[in-house]
Amino acid sequence: MAHELPPLPYDYSALEPHIDEKTMHLHHDMHHGAYVKNLNAALEKYSNLQSKNAEELLRDLNAIPEDIRTTVRNNGGGHVNHTMFWKIMKPKGGGDPSGPIADVIKKTFGTFKDFQGKFNDAGAKQFGSGWVWLAGKPNGDVQIITTPNQDNPLSQGLYPIFGNDVWEHAYYLKYNNRRPEYLAAWWNVVNWSEINKRYEAFKSANEPAMAHR
Ligand code: MN
Repeated sequence: MAHELPPLPYDYSALEPHIDEKTMHLHHDMHHGAYVKNLNAALEKYSNLQSKNAEELLRDLNAIPEDIRTTVRNNGGGHVNHTMFWKIMKPKGGGDPSGPIADVIKKTFGTFKDFQGKFNDAGAKQFGSGWVWLAGKPNGDVQIITTPNQDNPLSQGLYPIFGNDVWEHAYYLKYNNRRPEYLAAWWNVVNWSEINKRYEAFKSANEPAMAHR
């Protein structure tokens, strides 16, 4: 089964004014589209890897043949990261989180505002291209991390609960070099119910390990 570019779950203009229609067209169709195309091309001669989903490939990059490892890391990462990204945004999103994700944010960071400040600061400081994440640790805790390029937390044994894309292609047309402005505006389109689903999936994935402690 070849990897496929998932359609956007809303219109290209739906995240206006926070994320502009033209950026969404280029970002989804061209950038994400290219990651999927390049990933499929790299896997062409390795039929044993074609049955694995992209998350499985990223969880064990050492198992990927060396001649395509970097390509899979970059383009498999690009595919997984953006597939998440479209889903954790929605028109008229944002506001304060509720449910389990709100509880773990309060427990770990104090207030939601403190968390947002730290997340935005980490994203602003990521040098060059990359992502800022709330990642789940094997012991069930959560932390803010950044990754360069299209690296996904899965490749370092962490769970990508949610992340924001700080590549210039995500914001440059509208915000130019003002990445902090983009980071601040992004919270207006965050889809907390989808993020709660991902947090629950992280918790269930960790249940066996936690039970053994
Ligand atoms: Mn991107």
